[in-house]
Amino acid sequence: MIPAAFDYIAPQSLGEAMRALADHGEDAKLLAGGHSLLPLLKLRLARPKLLIDLSRIPGLGNISQDGEQIVVGALATHYQIESSKLLATKCPLLPQTARAIGDVQVRNRGTIGGSLTHADPSADWPAAILALGGELKLSGAKGERRIAAEHFFLGAMTTAIEPTEILTEIRVPVSTRRCGSAYLKMAQQASGFAIVGVAVWLRIDTKGRCEDIGVGVTGLSEKPFRARAVEERLRGNRPTPKLIDESAIQVAEGSDPLEDLHASAKFRAHLAQVYTGRAIQEAAKRASGRAR
Ligand SMILES: Cc1cc2nc3c(=O)[nH]c(=O)nc-3n(C[C@H](O)[C@H](O)[C@H](O)COP(=O)(O)OP(=O)(O)OC[C@H]3O[C@@H](n4cnc5c(N)ncnc54)[C@H](O)[C@@H]3O)c2cc1C
Repeated sequence: MIPAAFDYIAPQSLGEAMRALADHGEDAKLLAGGHSLLPLLKLRLARPKLLIDLSRIPGLGNISQDGEQIVVGALATHYQIESSKLLATKCPLLPQTARAIGDVQVRNRGTIGGSLTHADPSADWPAAILALGGELKLSGAKGERRIAAEHFFLGAMTTAIEPTEILTEIRVPVSTRRCGSAYLKMAQQASGFAIVGVAVWLRIDTKGRCEDIGVGVTGLSEKPFRARAVEERLRGNRPTPKLIDESAIQVAEGSDPLEDLHASAKFRAHLAQVYTGRAIQEAAKRASGRAR
């Protein structure tokens, strides 16, 4: 349980971190909260020659509003997001999701950027960021690029980030009037990770019809995804209990449900259906409450 020897630096600026990453490439690893990386080092499943600690870079954990968008720095901890007053009113799905992660210690240390780039198939954040139609900013020696969350996750522990890039911020739209959201999951009892987790964001129009909707699913398959069939079924229609049930049935369409010691593929698909229905119902209720 002792990691292989490595060098350690704690850059004071993003530029310094990017240069170190460009110089060392795959021999270097970025360190955020360390909750996933340190166990990998101790088990010697990762043997970087250099650890680049991001925690001293000013501003990388800031949460702010930029016009119609919310900007969350990659180094923001789950707790910062859970307790942000700005997010409580401008994007409640983020605190709703943060609250569901692990326990107080985990939320105090783990970061949204570490979670998204680690891409554990059971992690909670991907569901919320997908439901919100979020965008990720990646910074590297060759410049910056933005990528839609839907194109970021490629598979279990695999994303579109290059070894010389750093995830610096996550952008999601501000939730306005008549928007509602919910994140619901069945958690593994030991860790809190999602066996299945479903995030829903929706906006209703003045007649109570679902004007826009995003449904993000995690835990069900190797890769988190947007349940497009569910969204299409609801868009433009009133979210009645009957329609919610009919649309939730479609959540696992096109996915390949995981099977492991926590749940069979069949049970996971069933859970996804149940949690999708409940999350849509909850989000619609909250949207009606914000209709005035
Ligand atoms: C006991 C326990 C319970 C947990 N329960 C849950 C849970 O219920 N739900 C859940 O979703 N998660 C859970 N987690 C995960 C945890 O909350 C963290 O989100 C996760 O471990 C990764 O975040 P981190 O900041 O610790 O990243 P680190 O461990 O520091 O890094 C993880 C990986 O991401 C890379 N990385 C980190 N930041 C960046 C960046 N900005 N740009 C590019 N690459 C980067 C690192 O190089 C590394 O490869 C749990 C963890 C523990 C230990």
